[in-house]
Amino acid sequence: MLKQNQIHNFNAGPSALTPDIRAKISTAIESIDGGPGILELSHRSKTFDQIIEQAKQHIECLYELPSTHEVLFLQGGASLQFAMLPYNLGTRGGFVTTGEWSRRAFAEACLLQTNEAQAPLEIHSEEAQGFCAVPKKVQIDLAINKHHDSDSVSKLDYLHVTSNNTIFGTQYNELPILVNQADEAQINPGFVIDASSDLFSKKVDWSKVDLLYGGAQKNAGPAGVTIVIGRRSILRSVPQHPFCPKILAYQTHAEKGSLYHTPNTLGIYAVGAVAEWLCLEGGLDMIAERSHTRAQKIYDIIDHYSLYEGHAQKDSRSLMNLTFRTTIPEAEQDLLVQAQELNIYGLKGHRSVGGLRASLYNAVADESIDILADLLTKTAQKFGA
Ligand SMILES: *Cc1c(COP(=O)(O)O)cnc(C)c1O
Repeated sequence: MLKQNQIHNFNAGPSALTPDIRAKISTAIESIDGGPGILELSHRSKTFDQIIEQAKQHIECLYELPSTHEVLFLQGGASLQFAMLPYNLGTRGGFVTTGEWSRRAFAEACLLQTNEAQAPLEIHSEEAQGFCAVPKKVQIDLAINKHHDSDSVSKLDYLHVTSNNTIFGTQYNELPILVNQADEAQINPGFVIDASSDLFSKKVDWSKVDLLYGGAQKNAGPAGVTIVIGRRSILRSVPQHPFCPKILAYQTHAEKGSLYHTPNTLGIYAVGAVAEWLCLEGGLDMIAERSHTRAQKIYDIIDHYSLYEGHAQKDSRSLMNLTFRTTIPEAEQDLLVQAQELNIYGLKGHRSVGGLRASLYNAVADESIDILADLLTKTAQKFGA
């Protein structure tokens, strides 16, 4: 049988876990403290109370979370957050479309709008440019909707962005600035961030963030648990929508400590273990620096050889999902065949972009990245390009 550490997993999600985390999960499945294992334990037990409390604390520690914000563990992935968001925070958000996921978030808000004055605004879209960049500055045209005079626009309920576009391989270095097109005045609604694919990868300025969410299965753990970090004042207030199902109200989950109904107990255990590991490794500044070095190694090869062409504009490149293609069509297939022989998984690009994609999440070993770098170099030399 193949040893797990001989597998080089570049999947976009669900994705790699480290050998240590896998071992920890395996042990917890067998038994916790001599009692039932994590899959067989009541979510109402004292043991699980401790597990969920510790998982929260590890995330609070990792993100240096101020007391204004709290962590929830939900289900339904980021996709359910697209729906919960407008139910709870209202539909009148500004949406920045930088890929498929942000488009879906906007679409859900549109579905729920009750009247035109509550219409969500797509204030910027990168679609015409093929989603190869993220904006630094977003100009909002106040004439975009006659029901939004400048006063009401400045009161947008929130600004929704996707911090890392998993499919297209673009990422914000910094949160974009929102300005009124007429007078360039800055507008500052709270950010709502879909951080599914760059959770646990860099520091967050919580003073600007109302809500940050993501499915754990990219960079934070296994599938089936959704991490939501938001302002207490928002998570604990009554939903904006008058007919919000109880299970979709943040308030329900916040007041019950994420135990309103049976949570993904295994997922919460695993996410806690991942956050603890990253804290012990040295925290998010160290992790971000490491991501930078690792991604640069691959981008340098992409830039050096004419065989490769990156999808994203350089200043919008993702440190998590690296998207590129080969300029000689046969080279791509050749590379994928070689990859298979080396036990490299997950290099094929998303069907909507094509080409190749390497996801360099935290759990991917440095050695795996070296092996990928070597494969890319050798393939370029083989094709003489
Ligand atoms: C994967 C992904 C989603 C969808 O997540 P689910 O957990 O499958 O609902 C949403 N947004 C981003 C940025 C993603 O990478």
